[in-house]
Amino acid sequence: MAISKANAADILIMKPKSVEYLIKKTRLVTVNVSGREMVTEESLFKEIGERYRRLGNALEVKSSSGNICRCGCGEETNEGKRFKSGHDQALEGIIRYFLLSGKK
Ligand SMILES: [Zn+2]
Repeated sequence: MAISKANAADILIMKPKSVEYLIKKTRLVTVNVSGREMVTEESLFKEIGERYRRLGNALEVKSSSGNICRCGCGEETNEGKRFKSGHDQALEGIIRYFLLSGKK
């Protein structure tokens, strides 16, 4: 099954523009249903699963982890930085998802 991009944005608690970004990055997969570009449920569930994984990883990164990005991606940061560029906002988005999902 597939759902509309607007519905995917609601479920993921993101702006439609961010859903387009995830489609471009192939983290969300779309199919054509009667001429409408729809998001597959499978890719939506994978994205939600990835959020659980990332938050779990972020919670395990210790201040003693050196130059490992605190967002949970496992990548190295530049010397002295806690996050890779943009990854602090990505973690914020994941936390927002867990705080707001199911609250509507
Ligand atoms: Zn990161």
